[in-house]
Amino acid sequence: MKACAFEYERPRNVESALRLLSTENSKILAGGQSLGPMLNLRVVQPALLVDLRGIEELKSVKDEKDSVTLGACVTHAQIEDGRLPDPTRGFMREVAANIAYRAVRNRGTIGGSLAHADPAADWPSALSVLGATVLIAGPGGRHEIPIEKFLTGLFETALKTGDILVAIRVPKLSARARVGYWKFCRKAGEFAQAIGAALDDPERGVARAVIGATRGAPHILADAKALFAKPEKQALLHAVDGAGLAADAYNRQLHAVALRRAIEKLAA
Ligand SMILES: Cc1cc2nc3c(=O)[nH]c(=O)nc-3n(C[C@H](O)[C@H](O)[C@H](O)COP(=O)(O)OP(=O)(O)OC[C@H]3O[C@@H](n4cnc5c(N)ncnc54)[C@H](O)[C@@H]3O)c2cc1C
Repeated sequence: MKACAFEYERPRNVESALRLLSTENSKILAGGQSLGPMLNLRVVQPALLVDLRGIEELKSVKDEKDSVTLGACVTHAQIEDGRLPDPTRGFMREVAANIAYRAVRNRGTIGGSLAHADPAADWPSALSVLGATVLIAGPGGRHEIPIEKFLTGLFETALKTGDILVAIRVPKLSARARVGYWKFCRKAGEFAQAIGAALDDPERGVARAVIGATRGAPHILADAKALFAKPEKQALLHAVDGAGLAADAYNRQLHAVALRRAIEKLAA
């Protein structure tokens, strides 16, 4: 099948994009790596596609004292190649490098991935463990929200009609911080069946873990200190049950092992 007919606009700034998005049945296009198939399957049938890739602000990166802010249209490949300041000393590069294959990474964007909110994707879990903040522009102005409030469910976010995800602010890890990430997938570069992520940053008082590739938003364990100290089977399974994954024995076990392996990486 092919996409239905649509108009196409490539605005030069966020304000023009917001104006275009106020027209009925308009849709944002970023890397097109999820939207392309959805258009071709006619799951979405927009009258107007608003391509964000001509907006410099969305491709820019701001390196500040305690954080790095990445424009929504920064691609996975740019992060993988280390062409941008990395607030995580290599962790984000590693995550990006394991998304799909290079052709997808060349076009897919960090903002598109978050806005799409596929639980099996990498950035929702990775940015949740890092404690990122999401910057949004909408018809009523600009605001920012923590990622745990942005990701609200299965392919669901706090974005309202006409909103644009403008950027993602990632806190800089302190010198002694350790991050662990484990993704189970059937083939290298595929969407995850289970994700475990862990961040231990004592200088900033952070001991956070994430269970990802659930049936909804990533499940965040805000204080995982005890689990990091003793990642024993019962405690891991208890955490996984808290993510609503108790029903399927295989899935439960897979997520528990992903979480344990992420925690083990903290000590590696
Ligand atoms: C074969 C294949 C394998 C993949 N494997 C993985 C994987 O292993 N891990 C992984 O994490 N991802 C994977 N992906 C997804 C890919 O990484 C893309 O990041 C993802 O598809 C969306 O990013 P995009 O920029 O292409 O967004 P698009 O496809 O352009 O848009 C996706 C959705 O988000 C909306 N949107 C996009 N940008 C914004 C914005 N700035 N503000 C508001 N709404 C916005 C669009 O309207 C659309 O609804 C895979 C994709 C393919 C095709």
